[in-house]
Amino acid sequence: MEMEAPYRRRRGLEECCCSQIWGWSGGKSGNWLSQVVKRRMGGGSTISFWKDIWVGDQTLQHRFPRLYGISMQQNNSVREVGNWVEGGWRWELLWRRNFFAWEEELVRELEDVIRHMATTEEEDRWVWIPNEADGFSVKSLYVFLEGMFLPTNHLCDFERFTFKKIWKTPVPSKVCALAWQVCLDRIPTKENLVSRKIMRREDALCPTCGETIETVRHLFLHCRFASAVWYRVNRWLGTMVVIPHDIIMSHGLLVGCGGNKKVRKGYSIVWLAFVWVIWRFRNDRVFNNINGEVEDAMDSIQRLSWQWYLLKTAKGSSLLYEWVWNPGDCMLR
Ligand SMILES: [Zn+2]
Repeated sequence: MEMEAPYRRRRGLEECCCSQIWGWSGGKSGNWLSQVVKRRMGGGSTISFWKDIWVGDQTLQHRFPRLYGISMQQNNSVREVGNWVEGGWRWELLWRRNFFAWEEELVRELEDVIRHMATTEEEDRWVWIPNEADGFSVKSLYVFLEGMFLPTNHLCDFERFTFKKIWKTPVPSKVCALAWQVCLDRIPTKENLVSRKIMRREDALCPTCGETIETVRHLFLHCRFASAVWYRVNRWLGTMVVIPHDIIMSHGLLVGCGGNKKVRKGYSIVWLAFVWVIWRFRNDRVFNNINGEVEDAMDSIQRLSWQWYLLKTAKGSSLLYEWVWNPGDCMLR
């Protein structure tokens, strides 16, 4: 899997422990597949003797490059490198030439490695390493990748809680994905494009106010457009208006105002709609020359959150005007 190299960041460590996760290197992503699947040998006819991992945790080609170089069976399957003789499996390794003395030790080592392996009557199959018993599931892959690319010990409890909440909130998955990227500062804000040398610093001003460099924090919290929308959202929900320090905190602040589980879920939906709409309005401004007003953004947040709330959660339906008039009441139904 190819993943983009992480944007370089200039934030101080004191700001948020999220910054530490940027320590991972994109290079790690190259071979994760071999860590989650392996071949379980049956008959051996679909497994390459030298090039697949079927005994130990690496290919024999990788482990014994010298021997691979002189093997006459470089492209043979496991099944083709041995035979059943009188009820027992016997390896039949063929070499291009006689061994040098120091190679004999290697051959003995190779024979030791494969001595107890034998083909069977079963079919070869793939094994899902994270959960051999139950096999593949998206969840187990997610947990594996999360551990690989986003070591959770680098997140504080609050950040872990927020990420979990975001992914559990019943909104379209593209919305969760965007919010997740926003929290990790992995969206193409102008600041990030400058870091990647795609844009010049002098072109990186906020497209809305033009007052400062466009960062995630500015775009979603401190820009006068975003803060005006945030103010309206809080006034609509009847929650306390605080301009939070960072975007993850803004989720916690809003959701924390919910008096019970249903309302907290509703507030999480509204927060996701806020993130979605701010990014969409920003892109409309940058790419389509459309300058949406605060009122338009607010209308979109109310309409989208209503749709998402009805779609996945509400047992008793509510009308849009009821949602706009008293969202807390609708969330309690
Ligand atoms: Zn701005």
